[in-house]
Amino acid sequence: MRAANPVVLEVPDGAGSAAFLVCWAGHGNAALLGYTARVAGGPSFLAVSPAAAQATRVLPANHPPVACTIAERAEIITSLARRPGFDADTARRAGIPVVVAGAQGTLGAAPGVAEFAVDLVQAVGLGQLALVTEIVLDDGAGPRGLDHLATQRALVRVTGQEIIAEQLRTQALAVRGPEVVLPTDHGLVLATGYRDLHSGAEHLVLRGPATERSARPVVHVHRECPTGDLFSSLNCSCRAELDAALADIAGSGSGIVVYLRGKPGRPLHHGPHLDDRQAHLVAFMLQDLSVPHIQLHRGDPQQRAALAGRGIPC
Ligand SMILES: [Zn+2]
Repeated sequence: MRAANPVVLEVPDGAGSAAFLVCWAGHGNAALLGYTARVAGGPSFLAVSPAAAQATRVLPANHPPVACTIAERAEIITSLARRPGFDADTARRAGIPVVVAGAQGTLGAAPGVAEFAVDLVQAVGLGQLALVTEIVLDDGAGPRGLDHLATQRALVRVTGQEIIAEQLRTQALAVRGPEVVLPTDHGLVLATGYRDLHSGAEHLVLRGPATERSARPVVHVHRECPTGDLFSSLNCSCRAELDAALADIAGSGSGIVVYLRGKPGRPLHHGPHLDDRQAHLVAFMLQDLSVPHIQLHRGDPQQRAALAGRGIPC
């Protein structure tokens, strides 16, 4: 999104995906507004970051919008983007709907196009306000219609998935809590809590007391399983695996158990595979605890690739 070029944003929409032209609202000159209207063809709205919207004054719903020319509208949109905060009164004069993005952006639950657009302009350092126009393709354009449009207009394309990956790479995911010495059946371990900034879950990193002296400690990633971990259910091997890992780190004095927890009432799925968020979270916590190299306990190939791709060689 250099200069005033809009970007094609593709986001999941039901079973398929929807496409939008997104540009920083500060580039909203009349020529760009005309261009986006012609190329995209659908309705526009302003997507605002929650931080910028905090200062918003909201007009009563029955307040009539003020009609204006496209040049006036462009001037209003640009002025909104170029000053701190966000003034809903002024936005209303431009006659353009405003959507405030959710506080957790694309890392929140079920992000929509406003969240993707705001995270996109923020990720490229272009402020808090995105001008979003839905791309409506001709009926005859077919499934390749978007490819054709992007090629013909030399437009850069970004997917929602790419934006989430960038957010996971660059945003703090959790806050470290206090470290406590935890006596267990197997011996003493050091326990550090991490509060997940997005799900609110409290994850735990358990370390043998001498782990710092190991250049490549063994790491066991365990996902919370209430029935197995708490009640020793025999339906799965979770409790046995957790016990073995704890016995290992307490016995040898070295090694790490990363205990990932789900949201209350939403247990995590079984199996060794880490999804994108979990892999980032594990990498984030290990890096935060200055653990640069690890050996993965039982070396699941998917876990190894996921962590290695996030700066944790294993
Ligand atoms: Zn289980």
